[in-house]
Amino acid sequence: MAAPLPHWGICALVLTIPWPVGATDQPAPRQAFDLVQQGTAVCSIIVADRPSPAARLAALELQYHLLKISGAQVPIRSENDPVEGRRILVGESAATRRFGLRSEDFKPQEYLIAFRTNTIILIGRDWEDTEANRKVDGRPMVGETLQALRHKLDYWKTVGCPDRGVGEVELPGLYDDQGTCLAAYDFLERFCGVRWYGPSAISIVIPSRKSLSAAGDDIRRSPALKHRSALPGGNWPFLRGQWGDFTTDQVHLYWRRIRQGGERWAGNHTFHQATIKALFNDPAYQSKNPRSQGSQLCYTNPKLIKQVAQMACDYFEGKGELPEGWKALGDYFAIVPDDNMNLCNCPACEALLQQGRTRKTGFFSSGEMSDYWFSFVNAVAREVRKTHPDKYIATLAYWAYALPPSFSVEPNVSIAPCLHTCYYPVHPEMRENDMKFYREWREKTAAPMFLWVYYHHPMEPALIDKWKSFPHVMVHETAKSMQMFIRDGVRGIFECGEQDQLEQYVMAKVWDDPNVDVDALIDEFFRLYFGAAAEPMKRFYLRLEEIACNPANYPAPYHRRDGIDWKKVAWERLGTPERMEELGALIAQAQKLAVIDPEKQRVALWRKALWEWMCQGREQYTAAQQQKRQ
Ligand SMILES: [Zn+2]
Repeated sequence: MAAPLPHWGICALVLTIPWPVGATDQPAPRQAFDLVQQGTAVCSIIVADRPSPAARLAALELQYHLLKISGAQVPIRSENDPVEGRRILVGESAATRRFGLRSEDFKPQEYLIAFRTNTIILIGRDWEDTEANRKVDGRPMVGETLQALRHKLDYWKTVGCPDRGVGEVELPGLYDDQGTCLAAYDFLERFCGVRWYGPSAISIVIPSRKSLSAAGDDIRRSPALKHRSALPGGNWPFLRGQWGDFTTDQVHLYWRRIRQGGERWAGNHTFHQATIKALFNDPAYQSKNPRSQGSQLCYTNPKLIKQVAQMACDYFEGKGELPEGWKALGDYFAIVPDDNMNLCNCPACEALLQQGRTRKTGFFSSGEMSDYWFSFVNAVAREVRKTHPDKYIATLAYWAYALPPSFSVEPNVSIAPCLHTCYYPVHPEMRENDMKFYREWREKTAAPMFLWVYYHHPMEPALIDKWKSFPHVMVHETAKSMQMFIRDGVRGIFECGEQDQLEQYVMAKVWDDPNVDVDALIDEFFRLYFGAAAEPMKRFYLRLEEIACNPANYPAPYHRRDGIDWKKVAWERLGTPERMEELGALIAQAQKLAVIDPEKQRVALWRKALWEWMCQGREQYTAAQQQKRQ
């Protein structure tokens, strides 16, 4: 079914920004809902007397964006206020119940945008702010607790407007249901043309119009990927530079706008020196290997298995506190060992480790300790299943235990393969090794699968060793990988690292809907974001991608079996003088064409973040070469 096309009312007035994809001149559907006419609000936003956190935020977001689009303030009213005329019902209220719509009848993350006579309904499954719900906790991937992810901010200050008497609001928690927000954000994108390309004011595209109306078919859906943890924070140079000035509060709001969060899941290291010291200090099951130094345990020890299983059961029953640094959320209790091979060498452990000696792959991801680690995971899972058959022991398929073990895995074990996605365009052998164990895991397990995807190279080594990498733009390859994962039924993805602004945005869109037209998204971005400078900026970006993603640019010795010499390849093979000249000309052309704001500012931000970084990288490389010659 085709997505409904936005209808922009009868008047074509102030139009400073070209329309997004799909927002073409379509015949006016019958009974278009007018939100704003000639700069005057002609509808009201209706929320419950005590709205859910999601409905409260959704109402504010609607009010703010409609204000920015048209200059009109659409009032937010309580269900108890007498309201006449057109209404946008936001979240469950007495009014939605009259339409037979209740939040709890929606599936998790499901939402509805509905058009009725003189009424638009934006509703979905929402987390309710009750004492019992607040008691539920866990240890998420980011932040220490679920409560810590219910970020608080001064809404109007965050969006850069004078206060409207709202003060501080608590946002719906990252991993709390917020279907009403999903509905509002979808509505603002589809029907109002808003695009959140970043958290800062400059990175958000908001059309300008005096009149605004909307109509279409009902949309009832939920994001395709259920756990979405990219949480771009602008921690690395490209994103930070491209976004321009932003605050932490804006980032927190931005995560909701690009629909990060979702289903509760966590999977990361849990047994490490701190948790072992605090909780697993029984001498009976300490590692017999003196080199372990308190970082490994005897994972074949029955006492340890019992204790961990009990801890998982306590967690699932809401009893007891998990230690700091532990990871468990929702139906998933994670167990992952510490990152070293100084494993216990008692006879039982040694026998299982011996089984893995032949399972080296020559890559980072191998199966050397798979039999050892998954024996322990299976033993804990078997114990927990006796009392909690519907819960999962979560673990990673990572490093020396990336490959599945030689035996079957318990049905209540949820695996998260760790995949070197950022290598896929240019390192076919690593991709193949990843795909091999990813597929084997898919065949071996029926439990929900999550992924940990690496986007850390080449930027992470560059930052650590203080050199400048060639921008590793791979937006099409990223979209392709993510589409495959989602179509394979992967339930959630955690991103390790950060991409550039556009790739990050495209990935979030594919996570929401893998059928999205990626080229259309890219075209739309350049058109809306850079206006007159769209063409050279797009050519610049796609040329970066073409260079970065061409395997022929990475011959040996830059290409090793288990990796890439990112530092050497950057300016010896990728950013060559000829290519730099070509790319520099495109940037110069964009600067010449972008004469008005905000396009001018955006070109300047991209120039500084990407192009100047590249020029510095090339200069540093040339200087080092000269020094070598002297
Ligand atoms: Zn042992």
